[in-house]
Amino acid sequence: MMNGGEYIESLKKYKPTIYFLGRKIESVVDEPMFRPHIHAAAMTYELAHDPRYEDVMTAISHLTGEKINRFTHIHQSVEDLVKKVRMMRLLGQKTGTCFQRCVGFDALNALYITTYDIDKKHDTEYHKRFVEYLKEVQKNDLMCVGAMTDVKGDRSLRPYQQKDPDLYVHLVEKREDGIVVRGAKAHMTGAMNSHEVIVMPTRALGPEDKDYAVSFAVPIDAEGLVNIFVRQTNDTRRLDGDIDCGNAKYGIVGGETLMIFNDVFVPWDRVFMCGEYDFAYELVETFATFHRQNYGGCKVGVADVLIGGAATLAEYNGVPKASHIIDKLTEMIHMAETCWCCSLACSNEGYKTPSGAYVPNPLLANVTKLNVTRFPYEWSRLAQDIAGGFVITTPSERDYRNPETRKLVEKYMKGVADLPTEHRLRMFRLVENLAVGAQLPESMHGAGSPAAQKIMIWRRGNVEMKKELAKVIAGIKPDENFKKITGKTEEEFFKEIVERAKRE
Ligand code: SF4
Ligand code: FE
Repeated sequence: MMNGGEYIESLKKYKPTIYFLGRKIESVVDEPMFRPHIHAAAMTYELAHDPRYEDVMTAISHLTGEKINRFTHIHQSVEDLVKKVRMMRLLGQKTGTCFQRCVGFDALNALYITTYDIDKKHDTEYHKRFVEYLKEVQKNDLMCVGAMTDVKGDRSLRPYQQKDPDLYVHLVEKREDGIVVRGAKAHMTGAMNSHEVIVMPTRALGPEDKDYAVSFAVPIDAEGLVNIFVRQTNDTRRLDGDIDCGNAKYGIVGGETLMIFNDVFVPWDRVFMCGEYDFAYELVETFATFHRQNYGGCKVGVADVLIGGAATLAEYNGVPKASHIIDKLTEMIHMAETCWCCSLACSNEGYKTPSGAYVPNPLLANVTKLNVTRFPYEWSRLAQDIAGGFVITTPSERDYRNPETRKLVEKYMKGVADLPTEHRLRMFRLVENLAVGAQLPESMHGAGSPAAQKIMIWRRGNVEMKKELAKVIAGIKPDENFKKITGKTEEEFFKEIVERAKRE
């Protein structure tokens, strides 16, 4: 297992093509815009060496018996699923931001399960190939960026119907030694400081979309792979001293790229799906389940920091015991812990797949994420309320450092008399970072937008069963309808509910 320093050092071996603000980035580790994201990801390596966190941060590989970083592990039990979300909350608390490495982690687990199922139906050998790749990832403790969301063009059209066929990543050529792919993936969290890219389809596909059913892995500096690092609210504040950013060490939020595949070659041993469109949905849903499981962990860890920031500001403002402040902080805690309950619940209700790997309960994982599209807006609103207007009108660090204005800022930005003004400035900026900035749309759209969760909740909500329950209670004779709708006797049906409750 690498530690944080070794991880940063390891990035120097890669020469990815990355652009930002109209220039080509020559060295990832030396680029000040990337540094906070690198530090946040480095925490996933560093804490694996801390004896206090060993239990959640590491695991034993079921493939080699070696101790590995949990971010490269395939979940072997419900306990592993629970440890995963505990690890996420811990890292959210330690970084106050997105630490990026979960996307690749979830891609590894989703592919482990889906390649097994593809092979069973199509007599292919994707799983064997994938396991070899996984061993390489585990042995070298690699960070993988999971690439799912295509740029999608006209959303009303399927991939094969798009005027420009490249708006979804697709197969261009099948060769003896591998395949050539083209297209682009959006929102690639942590791409610039990852070692590997794991690509998956973004939606359910039909026979006409066969060429879009591709999954594979390439190194981040593969020939033809181009990244454009995207802009975020207040992003260049990180270049402006260490106060104004609010979280100068770990940044704002994930740090994303638009990732373009310009005829990238992939050797066969790194191809995990090629044309099996009938498994695109399973891969997407399995990945989404894993990634939605996370959000009541990582975002709640970040909420812990925000709640702490808001409570500290109330102290600095001299009103820590005001009943309305205590009420608001309590509301924030309630919402954060509700999301945490969801992550724990979907993990505890997880189950074993035919591959032997475990998945969280998909219905509850989607409920988790749907809550995270809502509650962070509400807890951020309360944090803004507690902080007061200075959360967006604090003078800049440069004016604080300028001898001409220093004394004025010191005097008039002071809160409680014996507390340093600088602490207050720093805390306003932290709360601004967490409650006003890019964290919120990340909670909305990361791991899929609310509509995507609602589709899965509706599909798995089993309303037909619920209707039957209502009819029984209402005294409407169920027998005829019951058999017609369910195809089962009452006894069989209720037995299945119990089984299903266990599974889902
Ligand atoms: Fe991980 Fe959360 Fe960032 Fe997604 S948003 S990559 S789950 S830290
Ligand atoms: Fe995310």
